[in-house]
Amino acid sequence: MSPLTTRTQLEAWLIAASTNYSWTWDRRTQQLFGKLPSATAGLHPKIRVRALTDADFDRYLADDGFIEDARAAADRVPNPDPAPSAQIAYFSPEYGISETLPQYSGGLGILAGDHLKAASDLDLPLVAVGLFYRDGFFHQSITGGQQREHYERVDPRSLGLEQMPGIVDITMDDRIVKARVWRADVGRTKLYLLDTDLELNDERGKRVSDRLYSGDREHRIRQELLMGVGGVRALRQLGYQPDVFHLNEGHAGFLALELLGEEVDKGLTLDEAIEAVRPHIVFTTHTPVPAGIDRFPHDLMERYLGVWSDRYGVSIDQLLGLAHMPGEDVFNMAAFCLRMSSRANGVSQLHGSVSREMFSEVPGGSEITAITNGVHSRTWIANDLQATLDDEIGVAWDDSAPGCWDGVDDIADDTIRSVRRAGRQRLVDFVTGRVGARHALDPDALTIGFARRFATYKRADLLLRDADRLTELLASTDRPVQFVFAGKAHPADEPGKEVLSRVVEYASSDAAHGRFLFIPDYEMAVARAMYAGCDVWLNNPIRPNEASGTSGEKSALNGGLNFSILDGWWDECYDGENGWVIPTSEADDRAVRDSEEASALHDVLASEIVNLFYQDGGSMSAAWIARVRHNWKTLGPFVTARRMVREYDERLYRPHGAP
Ligand SMILES: *Cc1c(COP(=O)(O)O)cnc(C)c1O
Repeated sequence: MSPLTTRTQLEAWLIAASTNYSWTWDRRTQQLFGKLPSATAGLHPKIRVRALTDADFDRYLADDGFIEDARAAADRVPNPDPAPSAQIAYFSPEYGISETLPQYSGGLGILAGDHLKAASDLDLPLVAVGLFYRDGFFHQSITGGQQREHYERVDPRSLGLEQMPGIVDITMDDRIVKARVWRADVGRTKLYLLDTDLELNDERGKRVSDRLYSGDREHRIRQELLMGVGGVRALRQLGYQPDVFHLNEGHAGFLALELLGEEVDKGLTLDEAIEAVRPHIVFTTHTPVPAGIDRFPHDLMERYLGVWSDRYGVSIDQLLGLAHMPGEDVFNMAAFCLRMSSRANGVSQLHGSVSREMFSEVPGGSEITAITNGVHSRTWIANDLQATLDDEIGVAWDDSAPGCWDGVDDIADDTIRSVRRAGRQRLVDFVTGRVGARHALDPDALTIGFARRFATYKRADLLLRDADRLTELLASTDRPVQFVFAGKAHPADEPGKEVLSRVVEYASSDAAHGRFLFIPDYEMAVARAMYAGCDVWLNNPIRPNEASGTSGEKSALNGGLNFSILDGWWDECYDGENGWVIPTSEADDRAVRDSEEASALHDVLASEIVNLFYQDGGSMSAAWIARVRHNWKTLGPFVTARRMVREYDERLYRPHGAP
């Protein structure tokens, strides 16, 4: 067929395969993109295709295999429904779909990206809304042992986004801010992102969607009005009439203002409007840490609520009352969302009960249920392991049905060992690429990973509390142990930055023996390399502050074993055999608690984990591999976004009639 294929045709196939973000979970398409010139590796595939030269095309046009793969990749791209038929509208301030679309900061965004992908797989009628941040989230570099932050401008068109017709208006503090809307296709799911960087706006208006999670309280209010109010208006302009609005965390709660406005415009009183709107709103709360919840000062909110009190014909105080949290004197977004929704949930069973307690005095608070977070398996499992699973046990391992991973019992030890070793080797190479060759990582050594935001409750430096024991572990040459760390501290979080400095300083000290590495600029590509390369995934937050956590789930799917405090998802998933627990201290005093938990951590590491890994002399004993299989069989069906989205659909979306 190659003589009939023209350059235009081939280019069109490659563009089609790179425009829809379905390539982020299609390993054959990624393999195809792997054949594009290595000089552009790491960039968005659409940019890579646009950069192809005549000589590149001549080479590909002479390669029947390449042509066939490109045609097949374009054929596999799912088509989103062109009609605005979606019944579920999902709102989130960040989306982690690919490292090439830097519109996320961490767990919340990754979860949102995985939610959209699973919705696409399940053919759920869901449409998503968020903001397009021109400067994305900050990039991290380390100089002099300190975190440095910088931003890069992002060009939406080169990242596969398409501008929608029309402009949305939002009143903010008596001025009108205008937004345009971009669309990204995530498989069958459409994602709309609002962007105020327009000549139509004044300087202040332009900056509303500048950066993710930066700026002061007022900036945050403006971003959230853009997302919530602007998001509903954008959906209406595009023709959507969703039955369910799902708030992924309180940041989009202002969408209720617009939904109430629509009802009041029809002649309802505010109270009647609230009763009319509540059945259509689902609220997911994501953190038990008060600092993680938006709490806006009343005097600021008053300026932004004026237009709404006029529209509803009620006082501003009445509106402030809707966001009242007993004991506080602020506009509490979580309290507002609870009052505006009829169904709410936490993100693990433990977090559900912590949330019921925390919000017990807010109407609806005691009825908060729980749906445990999950991750999108085809996005997160290394491609070579996916290929092994597809070949050895069949593609149904990805069904999230009971027993769907049981086939791993028939995979030979050596097959598992070699796939895991390949992952470790790629991690070693990845580290070399990022930090240079000055390290002593070994592709056969027991590898322990830790990567997450450097929020203080996550205690990235807990291991260092007993630096002598850590150093002793790292010095061992007969049973080598190595650590890979990554993570960003929020630019305004000084204590978090200090923790980061301590970790970085230790990593560059002689004590680390080149076996304790910190990878700068944690993002999805770093995360993938770590999940496939780490044997043990470490998580030591202060219980019960970790609402769910998902990185451990991604590690588990890749055959890593979790070693964690009984918090978040692990609290309900640990069964005594599928990993290890760091015992929680009963001490009230933070310093005592840290030192007791650090000491317990080192005990389990030395007495159980290292021994088991090296039990047969070399790397990865038979008993270790038996644990990996057990981990897959118990966690594989459960920790997935497919299971999670099905639960949202059955328990929280459908009760009000969404199909
Ligand atoms: C999974 C993931 C997270 C969230 O991890 P937690 O365990 O929830 O802290 C953050 N960032 C990236 C890049 C991830 O892939």
